[in-house]
Amino acid sequence: MLESSACLEVMSNMILGIESTAHTLSFGVVEEDGRAKPSVSNLFRPEEGGIHPREAADHHSDAAGDLLSQVMLINSISKSDITAIAFSQGPGLGPCLRVGASVARALANSWEVPLIGVNHCVAHIEIGRNQTGCEDPVLLYVSGGNTQVIARREGRYRVLGETLDIGIGNMLDKFARSQGIPFPGGPEIERLAGDWISRNPECSLESILLPYGVQGMDLGFSGILTAAIQKKTAGHDLSEICWSLQEHSFSACIEVAERAMAHTGKSELLLGGGVACNERLRQMASIMCQERGGRSYSPSKEYCVDNGTMIAELGRKMLESGSLTALQDSAVCPGLRTDQTIVTWH
Ligand code: AMP
Ligand code: MG
Repeated sequence: MLESSACLEVMSNMILGIESTAHTLSFGVVEEDGRAKPSVSNLFRPEEGGIHPREAADHHSDAAGDLLSQVMLINSISKSDITAIAFSQGPGLGPCLRVGASVARALANSWEVPLIGVNHCVAHIEIGRNQTGCEDPVLLYVSGGNTQVIARREGRYRVLGETLDIGIGNMLDKFARSQGIPFPGGPEIERLAGDWISRNPECSLESILLPYGVQGMDLGFSGILTAAIQKKTAGHDLSEICWSLQEHSFSACIEVAERAMAHTGKSELLLGGGVACNERLRQMASIMCQERGGRSYSPSKEYCVDNGTMIAELGRKMLESGSLTALQDSAVCPGLRTDQTIVTWH
């Protein structure tokens, strides 16, 4: 009796979110009033090479039971506290998405709560708005597989510019791998770049130019990847290349984001995706925004990387606006585009 009344005190209605688009399996919850709780996550790290979708999916199947128990435990909740299950419906790797979707369907069915399939890219925006309080931002979404500049207009989040080849995080990871640095390479590249600039505060990009991949509002990173690998073969210091790689590729993203702000007339820039953990990128974003009288917003790192809480947050907004997903419509969409999702919430 005592135990159940203690439970009642912490009990509240929560939306459970499941993220499984690529290397990360993550569960997170958000309370119905929008208070976000930290996610519990498990990252698939390949022993060598890139992510094999089937191997990542096997990892997710193995990890799902434990992560679900953990998220319930750390938030002191039981199944009766969950009012809906949200899951990443796309975009992402088919086998990985299917694991998250299967877990979500099974839970929704057995706990008799609604199912909500959400757009992963849009979830990055909504957790960013939730965490930073920005209203109507341009989102610079920089992750492993995606690089997009997005803004809301007439009921959709529109893609104003994007990579035409690989994602910026993927480029950083591939360069890192070519130098024997394990996945994820971005944090180590950031460390090496910082090390270079602190040892060489007067250095100039002129001595280590790399391709600058901006095509109008679009971006490209495969050229800079090849050129960076060549710089190493030509004898440049690895930390100098990491610094130049960051300066060039981040400037390209900030340039497109700035143009998007100018064209849309929006004054807020929101960063999202794993690469947004990078302090130099955050600094560039805030300098650009200050110079044009705007403001840049960056959620804490746990909400930049892929996480279950962001899926729960978009699920919460969709639940509020009545956008539920019927079982027959819950198939995963690996190629789902940001602007395919109709925005039914504020
Ligand atoms: P996501 O796909 O959003 O989960 O983000 C993963 C990507 O973020 C990987 O490509 C990582 O290398 C990259 N990443 C994580 N932390 C950093 C960092 N500090 N600097 C640059 N890239 C990072
Ligand atoms: Mg992502």
